[in-house]
Amino acid sequence: MKSEIQIAEFLLLLKETREQLAYFKELGVQNVESESPLSRPTETMAREAEPPLAEFSRRQATGAAGAVPSSYVRADASSLPSDTLFGDLTAPPVRIQKSSESFEEIWADIGNCTRCPLHQERINIVHTDGNRKARLMFVGEAPGADEDAQARPFVGRAGQLLTKIIEAIGLKREEVLIGNVNRCRPPGNRPPTPEEASMCKPFLLREIAAVQPEVIVVLGNTAMRNLLDIKQGITRVRGQFQDYHGVKVMPTFHPAYLLRDPSKKKETWEDLKKVRDYLDSTRKREN
Ligand code: URA
Repeated sequence: MKSEIQIAEFLLLLKETREQLAYFKELGVQNVESESPLSRPTETMAREAEPPLAEFSRRQATGAAGAVPSSYVRADASSLPSDTLFGDLTAPPVRIQKSSESFEEIWADIGNCTRCPLHQERINIVHTDGNRKARLMFVGEAPGADEDAQARPFVGRAGQLLTKIIEAIGLKREEVLIGNVNRCRPPGNRPPTPEEASMCKPFLLREIAAVQPEVIVVLGNTAMRNLLDIKQGITRVRGQFQDYHGVKVMPTFHPAYLLRDPSKKKETWEDLKKVRDYLDSTRKREN
């Protein structure tokens, strides 16, 4: 009996360790796969993006501000079950914690970025825009031609529809934060690849850690899959709150898709009402 429990604990540990390693990789932490046989290979480009795991540990230990990892902590060890086979070796979930980084510091790290091929045809890097104290954030996939030209996210036709969606739930565009998983326009507006997304995403996560929005609305299939690593499609997942390392995420249709198929606006409205109601309920609790 005891050995069955131990096997179950071991399998749980294995699963949690895999998840933890996958998350480190997502942050761009180097050498995770070479330090553990449990992880699958990462993209070479992603390895060049962020500091190595040792640096992550040092920053966690010293609390030093800087790259992505300082914004993430493990759950309180005292909340863990003590009677486990591996005791405190069990990997608890990583949660996004508030960081004191400014957007300017994050953007300085991005610099004149050449980390992925998308830099070759861009005019501008399109950074996250809006209220840095926002309770609500919208995340799209990547800039289009208008955004590339103006260096601001969601300023084209899809952006105008997004502004109306924001206003429909009683907010002004200036009150929310708007960004993309990728900051450079893909040629011909093709979807960014998962590799390209993995290069850019750590910077978005640092902005999320700095602002700590209560809800992120992720717009469309590509953004949802690249942000959340969900395999299912947006049609299946939309309207259901997801948890992203402690932040509530609502997937819904991309406004460009709504321009092509206006009948889907009804579902989007249902999804956004859930977001509005959630924000209303947490505000009431604060008061
Ligand atoms: N589509 C996106 O996903 N992002 C933008 O900024 C504009 C259009």
